[in-house]
Amino acid sequence: MNKAQSYLNNFIIQIINKDLASGKYTSVHTRFPPEPNGYLHIGHAKSICLNFGIAQNYQGQCYLRFDDTNPVKEHIEFIESIKNDILWLGFKWSGKIHYSSDYFDQLYNYARELISKGLAYVDHLSSDQIREYRGTLTQLGKNSPYRDRSVDENLALFAQMRRGELIEGSACLRAKIDMASPFIVMRDPVLYRIKFQNHHRTGTKWCIYPMYDFSHCICDALEGITHSLCTLEFQDNRRLYDWVLNNISIDAHPHQYEFSRLNIEHTIMSKRKLHLLVSDNIVEGWDDPRMPTIAGLRRRGYTAASIREFCRRIGVTKQENHVESAALEACIREELNESAPRIMAVINPVKVIIDNFPVGYEEQITMPNHPNKPEMGIRQVTLSREIYIDSADFRETNYPKQYKRLVLGKEVRLRHAYVIKAERVEKNQQGDIVIIYCRYHPHTLNQTTADSSKVKGVIHWVSATNCVVASFRLYDKLFNLPNPAAAKDFRMILNDKSLVIRQGVVEASVLAAKAGEYYQFEREGYFCTDSYQFSKSRLVFNRIVGLRDTWSAKVRT
Ligand code: ATP
Ligand code: MG
Repeated sequence: MNKAQSYLNNFIIQIINKDLASGKYTSVHTRFPPEPNGYLHIGHAKSICLNFGIAQNYQGQCYLRFDDTNPVKEHIEFIESIKNDILWLGFKWSGKIHYSSDYFDQLYNYARELISKGLAYVDHLSSDQIREYRGTLTQLGKNSPYRDRSVDENLALFAQMRRGELIEGSACLRAKIDMASPFIVMRDPVLYRIKFQNHHRTGTKWCIYPMYDFSHCICDALEGITHSLCTLEFQDNRRLYDWVLNNISIDAHPHQYEFSRLNIEHTIMSKRKLHLLVSDNIVEGWDDPRMPTIAGLRRRGYTAASIREFCRRIGVTKQENHVESAALEACIREELNESAPRIMAVINPVKVIIDNFPVGYEEQITMPNHPNKPEMGIRQVTLSREIYIDSADFRETNYPKQYKRLVLGKEVRLRHAYVIKAERVEKNQQGDIVIIYCRYHPHTLNQTTADSSKVKGVIHWVSATNCVVASFRLYDKLFNLPNPAAAKDFRMILNDKSLVIRQGVVEASVLAAKAGEYYQFEREGYFCTDSYQFSKSRLVFNRIVGLRDTWSAKVRT
C-alpha cells in the first residue's frame, strides 16, 4: 500500500473489502454531505479524505451532496466556500453536485407512504411539549394525544401543512414508532416541520422541510450510496435510518457506519461556535489564520498535502479523542523543512553598528537557500556597516551562563558571515538600547579561525541599508484550555496573545515573492505571505508554525 492509500487502512476499509469479496457490492459509492451552514473545518477534512479517498482507492464514486434541508441557516456563500475547499484539498466529486433539495418531491411522497401505512401522523404538540413527552433515558416517553388519528385525517392535515394552511409550530409530521423505546431517537421522531422560509434552490415552493434523519437515508438510497459514513453521535440514529428505509418502497438499503469525530486541543470544531467567533468579531472572519477552518489553515500557510498527511496520520477509528495541535503542526513543519527556502528576517529589530567597517561599507555574502539542498540554489545578501539583529539576541546584563548570543565583550557569529564582538551600547532617554556597537574579525567569513573557534553562538541579521520593512503576524492558540468546548463560555478562555503583530525587517530578496509563498525565516519559524494583505509595498507575513513545538514547554513554565 502506498502512502496516499495507507490512510485508508481502517475498520471501514476492512468492511468494504469484505463487501466486495462477498459480492454484496461490485463497486463502492460514498458521499460527503455537508450542511451549507458554515465553512468547512479540519474535522470535515477527515471525513473528506475518508469518503473521497475511498472512491479514489476503489475507482468508485463519491458525491458531494449539500444537505440543504434547513433553509434558515444555509447560505450560498457557504456552498461556494465548501466547493472551493474540497477542490483545494485535492479532491473532486463524481458527476454533478447533488442537493438534498433535489429530492424534496420524492421525500414528500415517501412521507405520505408512511402516513398511508399508519406509520406517521400529524402532531399538534408544541416543540416544548414534544420534548417533555419524549421522556429521558430513565423515564419512558408518553404518547401524544394526536397519535391515533386516522390515515385519511393525517393525509389531509399533511397536505394542509404543505399548502401553507397551518402556521409554523402548530403542526409537524412524526414517525409512529415506539414512545417506550430505549433509544430516544425512536420515540416518534419528527420527520417534517413547517418553515415559511425561502429556500436557495426551491424558492417558495415548499413551506415544509424534512428533518435530517428522514431525508439523509432516503437521499443515500436514491443515489445508490453503498457505505454511508458519519460520525459517532449518529450511532443511535442508525436505527431510525434503517427503520425509514425498511418501511418505504425503495430497493436500495445503504448501510451507515460511524467513526469518531476529530477534535483538536485548544480549538473548537462546531460550526455553530465557529460562527459565534466570526459574528462576535473575535476573529477577522471564517478564514482568520487562527481558525481551524480549511480557509483559515490555508491562509495561515498550511498546504493541502500537509492536511491530507495529518488525516492519514490520525487514521479512522471509533475511539473518541482529542488530538494535540502539535500533530497537525508537525505535518506542515516537516513538509516546509524540506521545501521552504531559508531567508533572514528580524522581527524585533535593534541596530548594530560594526565600527571597524568604513562608513557606507557593503559586502555581498553568498548564502545557500537550503542547508541540505544545493539544487535550491544560492543568493547574495548584503552585509553593511549597519545591520539589525533581534533584540532577544543581545543581553546587557542578567543573562544566564549558557546564553550563547551577543553580550558585551563576547563574540558571536553572524549567520553565514563574520564573528563580531559587542563593545558598547547607546541608549535613548527611556534607557532602551538603540544601538549596539561591535567590531568584526576579518578572516572569519564563513570559517572558523584559531581565534574564533570558541564562538558557539550564531545569530541572524539583516542589513539596515538593504532590507525591507515587513509586518509579522505571529499566531498562537485561540484558547487557553485544551478542551474549550467544555468551558461554560468559551469567550472567557480566549488567549489574548493569539495574534501579535510585529514590525520588523527582512532581506530584500523577498521582494521577488508572490502572495502564498513559503519561507523559513532562520531561527524564527515558517512563514508565508498573507494572501489578502500582502503587496509589494506592504509585506505581511503569517507565521505558520515555529521551528519546533514550544507550546508544551510554555505551559509547563
Ligand atoms: P458541525 O458540528 O461542525 O456543524 P456537522 O456534523 O453538523 O458538524 P456537517 O456539515 O453536517 O457538519 O458535516 C458533514 C460531514 O462531515 C458529516 O458526515 C460529518 O459527520 C462530518 N464531520 C463533521 N465534523 C466532523 C469532525 N469533527 N470529524 C470528522 N468528521 C466530521
Ligand atoms: Mg450537521
